[in-house]
Amino acid sequence: MAKKVNVVAPAKINITLDVIKKRSDGFHNIESIMQTLELEDSLNLQLINQGIQLETEASNIPLGEENLAWKAARLMFEKFKLPGGVKLTLKKNIPVQAGLAGGSTDAAAVIRGIAELFELEPYSTKILEIAASIGSDVTYFLFGGTKLVSGKGEKIWELPDLPPKKICLITFPFGLSTPGVYRYWRGRETLHRSRKVLPAVFSGSWEKVEKEAGNDLEPYAIKKAPVIGKVLEKIRKAGLGPAHLSGSGPTIVVYDTGAELLKKELGGFRIKIFNTRTKEKDFIKK
Ligand code: ATP
Repeated sequence: MAKKVNVVAPAKINITLDVIKKRSDGFHNIESIMQTLELEDSLNLQLINQGIQLETEASNIPLGEENLAWKAARLMFEKFKLPGGVKLTLKKNIPVQAGLAGGSTDAAAVIRGIAELFELEPYSTKILEIAASIGSDVTYFLFGGTKLVSGKGEKIWELPDLPPKKICLITFPFGLSTPGVYRYWRGRETLHRSRKVLPAVFSGSWEKVEKEAGNDLEPYAIKKAPVIGKVLEKIRKAGLGPAHLSGSGPTIVVYDTGAELLKKELGGFRIKIFNTRTKEKDFIKK
């Protein structure tokens, strides 16, 4: 049995995010087409005699039980009654509270890593239950690639992977809390963008996907942070490419343009602009 393993934890964007309704448990039912990116955290998992340790150079995330990677390790050891413990070394590249689900992907990567170390069936009911209990996006990251996600995030529908594509991300020097943005959501009727995008996903056409891409939470994230609206307005007015919010923000996704051009046009804003690529699901060892 191997004693250590390296796993990658890619970020995701929501190509679409439809908020369907508020549930009685306080969460929201959504429909979303999610896509993993080359932007990723990485984790090394090393088996130790006992306990769970987390090491990271990142200073803006919790280091103990509150860390979703730590929580995933604890649940795996508890629920599978595994012997010993694990040391997690996390290299954080994904911006925090950015709408890119950095915490959830770290948790899923730890689940995959521990499953590999102990030769556990990676898609068992128990593992799916552990993932869903940690956070809404964790289940998605057990699969990755292009997926339709529904329920509160625990229902994953297989789709053909969209071909790899270069996209731009715009990140801000502040985070937005997901519950904070959802609190502004007033039950406005969804445009059901996910259902409209599906045929384009099946035909593998990014051009058609981009036409319908968009996010129901965008107006509410803009209410919390008006600068997001100003950046989006500038991109749209200048015709720099289709653009929309990812997750509950503040990160903006821009298609069909390059970071250099965007930097020229958006010089006055305190933002980071960088290129990344979408990533197919082959980061998961099967
Ligand atoms: P979500 O929509 O899942 O909240 P997000 O991308 O907006 O995703 P994250 O970067 O996942 O936000 O951070 C959400 C919260 O999770 C933050 O308050 C952060 O402190 C906490 N958190 C716990 N563990 C981690 C982790 N390993 N990496 C990043 N954030 C973490």
